[in-house]
Amino acid sequence: MKKLALHWKIIIGMILGIIFGFIMNTVDGGRDFVTDWIKPFGTIFINLLKLIAVPLILASLIKGVSDLKDISKIKTMGLRTIIIYVGTTLIAIIIGLSIVNIVKPGEGMSAETIEKIKLKYESSDGVVDKLNKASNQQDAGPLQALVDIFPSNIFKALGDAKMLQVIFFALFVGICLLLIPDKKANPLVHFFDSLNEVVMKMVDLIMLFAPYAVFALLANVIIAFDDIEILLKLLMYAVCVVVGLILMIGVYLLLIKVYTKKSPLWFLSRISPAQLLAFSTSSSAATLPVTMERVEEHLGVDKEVSGFVLPVGATVNMDGTSLYQGIAAVFIMQVIWPEGLTFTNQLVIIATALLASIGSAAVPSAGMVMLVIVLESIGFPAELLPIGLALIFAVDRPLDMCRTVVNVTGDATVSMLVAKSLGKLNKPKPKNWDDNYDAVK
Ligand code: ASP
Repeated sequence: MKKLALHWKIIIGMILGIIFGFIMNTVDGGRDFVTDWIKPFGTIFINLLKLIAVPLILASLIKGVSDLKDISKIKTMGLRTIIIYVGTTLIAIIIGLSIVNIVKPGEGMSAETIEKIKLKYESSDGVVDKLNKASNQQDAGPLQALVDIFPSNIFKALGDAKMLQVIFFALFVGICLLLIPDKKANPLVHFFDSLNEVVMKMVDLIMLFAPYAVFALLANVIIAFDDIEILLKLLMYAVCVVVGLILMIGVYLLLIKVYTKKSPLWFLSRISPAQLLAFSTSSSAATLPVTMERVEEHLGVDKEVSGFVLPVGATVNMDGTSLYQGIAAVFIMQVIWPEGLTFTNQLVIIATALLASIGSAAVPSAGMVMLVIVLESIGFPAELLPIGLALIFAVDRPLDMCRTVVNVTGDATVSMLVAKSLGKLNKPKPKNWDDNYDAVK
C-alpha cells in the first residue's frame, strides 16, 4: 500500500484530537484527563522542537554564510530580505484595516454582550498577564530593542533561546570564517555542516511523532473553550480576521507564481506540514526547525538563504500578527471607543502594527501583548484597556493558531523570493529519516 503523506497523517491527528476534545468536554472529569494524560505528549513534542531550534539556527547560518564566499552577497541578501519583509507586512496591515473598516464587525454589539464579556474576562488571569507583559516591554528605553540584539554572553543567549542574539553571533562567526584562510576555517565549517545534518535528521525523526502530538495539542485547545455563546457573538470579528489571513495567503501564492514561476499548489503541498504544525502549536519559533527542513529539502531553497531568512523571519516577520492587530485594534475601537476612529489614528496603527509585529515574540499569544502597545500609541484610554482585551480574549487562541500559519507561510514565501533573486533556488532533494538506516540496523 502507498504510504500516506505526512500532511495527511497530521490532518487525521488534528481531526481526531478535535473530536476527542469535544467528547472529553462533555464527560465528567474529561478535561482533567486531557490535562493530566494527553497534554503532556504535546508538550514533549514542542520541547523537542525547541530543543533543536537553536543548534539548527547556529549551524545552518554559520555554514550558510561561510558558503556564500563573498561578504557583499550577505549585504544584498540581508537588504532584500528586510525590504520584502516590510513590504509584505504593510500589505497585510492594509488588508486587515480595509476589511475591518468595510465590514465594521464591532458596530451593533449590544451593551448586554459587552457587559457579559467584561464581567467574564476583564480581570481574568489571561488579560491581566498580557497587560503586565506589555507594561514591562514599555518600561524599556527606545533603543532597547536594538541593544537586545547584541549578546554579552553567548551561552546565556543560546540557553535563553534569544533568536536575534543567536542570529547575530552566527552571522559574526560566519563572516569571520570568510575572513580567515580556508585552511584555518575548514575544520569549523565542517563541524557546523555536520551539526546541521544531524539536526536536520532530528527533525525527520521528531516529525514521525507529529500526528500523535497534534492530537494532544488540539484536544487540549478544545477543552479550553467553555462559553460557546460568547464565541458566537465574536463570530463576525473572527471571520474578518480569518478572511484577511486567507487573502494574505493568496498574496503569497501570487508572488510565488509570478516571481518564481512555481505552481501555488506545489508550494502548498510542500510546505503544508509546517503550516499544520504552526496551527497546532501557535508558535512560529517552535515550528522553525520544520519550516527550515521543508524549505530547504522540499522547496529547494539553498541553506545560505534559508539559514538567514527563516530565523530572522520567525522573529521579525509576522504578517498574520500585524493583520490581526490592525483588525483587533479597530474592532475594539468600534465597540468601546468610536471617537478614536480617525484617519490619523489608522495611519498610526499601520506604523505601530509594523513595529509591533517585529517586536512580538514568536510564541503563543504574543500578538495580543503587542496589541496593547498598538492601542496605547493612538491614545486609547488606559482604563478601557482591560475591557478592550477582554473583548477579543475568548477567540484569541483560535485566531492565534490561524495567524501563526500565515506568519510561517510568509517566511517560507520570502525565502523562495530571495533565493530566486540570488539564483539560489534549486531542484528539491527531500531526505527521509531512514535513508541510511539499512546500513546501520
Ligand atoms: N503566535 C504567533 C507566532 O508565534 C505570534 C502571535 O501572533 O501571537 O507567530
